Amino acid sequence: MIDSHCHLADAAYVSDVDAVITRAIAAGLTGALCVIDASDGGETQRVGAIAARWPSVRTTAGVHPHRAGAYSGAPREAVELVRRRLMADSLARAVGEVGLDYHYDLAPRDTQRAVFGAQVALAREVGLPLVIHTREADDDTVAILEEAGQGQVRGVFHCFSGGVPLARRALDLGFHVSFSGIVTFPKGEDVRAAAATIPLDRLLVETDCPYLAPVPHRGKRNEPAWVVRVIERLAAVHGVSTAVMAAATAENYHNLFMP
Ligand SMILES: [Zn+2]
Ligand SMILES: [Zn+2]
Repeated sequence: MIDSHCHLADAAYVSDVDAVITRAIAAGLTGALCVIDASDGGETQRVGAIAARWPSVRTTAGVHPHRAGAYSGAPREAVELVRRRLMADSLARAVGEVGLDYHYDLAPRDTQRAVFGAQVALAREVGLPLVIHTREADDDTVAILEEAGQGQVRGVFHCFSGGVPLARRALDLGFHVSFSGIVTFPKGEDVRAAAATIPLDRLLVETDCPYLAPVPHRGKRNEPAWVVRVIERLAAVHGVSTAVMAAATAENYHNLFMP
């Protein structure tokens, strides 16, 4: 089992990351993709200790749309920051998370679009997959991926919270789609309906921890061990065994991030 998107370098784990990793390994996890915000000095500093403690961890680096505002008028600066981070980290396997968030709108939308587009172009240039964060921005996300990616970039729509139409567009772009604890929530019907439309060979699972703890841990600090709850629910949605879903999502992870 793999957690394809976790924020283990987040300040939320500073005091007990060793115990969190021990529980993940005990739960049967064989790997995880640790997401680093390239503009966060604390995260870039902490990831080394995490990788030392859990050698099968791999990383991804990008400038999150929430932080894009710092690069207003200067998207190249975000790109160079991410490029340096990728070159400094032998475990880096993707560019991200990057994208657009029109739900929180923590940065002006035109700046979000510029910073996202520049990082999509970077992924194309360096030949790495993308980890996409998109919220209430379906049309612009797809348009930028088409324009800046030119059909040459693959990746994953992480923590999918859209509907069936966006899932369809993600598949058409050649992307994978990753589901989080949202699939376990009582109000997750739309997300479960979208998950049911994704073929088994394009599915990934994640915790997006420390947020979005799955049922029955909802409201607590999330952690990679609990990706098991996501796999169980996704297996039920697809009418397959937990073992089949665990194997399929692990294989997809390796194909996408470690070809
Ligand atoms: Zn995200
Ligand atoms: Zn995330």
